[in-house]
Amino acid sequence: TARIIDGKAFAAGLRARVGEGAAGFARAAGRKPGLAVVLVGEDPASSVYVRSKGKATLAAGMESFEHRLPADTDSATLLALVDRLNADDAVDGILVQLPLPAHIDERAVIARIDPAKDVDGFHPVNAGRLATGLDALVPCTPLGCLMLLKDAHPHLAGLEAVVIGRSNIVGKPMGQLLLRESCTVTMTHSRTRDIFAHVRQADILVAAVGIPGFVQKEWIKPGATVIDVGINRTDAGLVGDVAADAAEVAGAITPVPGGVGPMTIAVLLRNTLVAAGRRAGVAVDESAL
Ligand code: NAD
Repeated sequence: TARIIDGKAFAAGLRARVGEGAAGFARAAGRKPGLAVVLVGEDPASSVYVRSKGKATLAAGMESFEHRLPADTDSATLLALVDRLNADDAVDGILVQLPLPAHIDERAVIARIDPAKDVDGFHPVNAGRLATGLDALVPCTPLGCLMLLKDAHPHLAGLEAVVIGRSNIVGKPMGQLLLRESCTVTMTHSRTRDIFAHVRQADILVAAVGIPGFVQKEWIKPGATVIDVGINRTDAGLVGDVAADAAEVAGAITPVPGGVGPMTIAVLLRNTLVAAGRRAGVAVDESAL
């Protein structure tokens, strides 16, 4: 049976390394790295995320600036706040919690964030920089997946990698990261025919679908490394996009919960430290993170 990839432990190590980096930054820059998180409305899940991001930011020795706006906030008010945060020197990272209420144009808000402070990596400039091989701020969840993968597989070059899902948040940047590691990448999605025939070839499988137990045990190539990004709330609790018995076939697999989930906030802190270093001209050893 598969080795279980302990994302919780890896994330704890990453948070500790970021904490040391943040302390070094503070000594050199005379201030702590700062992360601003903006929440519009009272969506309960988003509210929980924002609270845990704030706590983790403080625990890593960074400043946390929380902005909670009412659900009926108009676009102009939100854009004006983004402008203020862009101009605020104490703010190194800006995260606008998604989804935004339907009356606000999410793309316009993301595009307004200074790409140098875009710690979610959703700005088109960062997506383009990633795709063209320039230094970029990379979306937290797929970068966390890649860190777990590189830990399991120091040599990714040449491996067959299959990604299920093509969202801007997970699937697409995941494909770019695997391509950057010289994997042979197949992107699959809701319109793919015979998805199992593709998955069957995968040495590396990343599932980011949002359907509980979507990937079946029989699809998986024996010994494959499986990264399950799915977080699905069911009557049976939190489950991933990969069937639980897939662990009987895979070589290594991330559990849900305790796999990819804990990595996202840890990478957010990493991105904030990296953004702070670049903005302030303070050396941050990114390879040691
Ligand atoms: P999304 O809904 O934006 O994208 C889902 C993708 O799955 C789409 O690109 C779609 O083409 C594909 N898809 C849907 N049905 C399919 C089918 N039948 N066959 C093949 N592909 C299909 O979702 P997302 O934001 O990319 O998130 C995916 C999952 O990852 C969700 O469960 C989400 O909760 C989870 N997630 C977890 C984290 C984390 O661990 N921190 C972060 C983000 C998302």
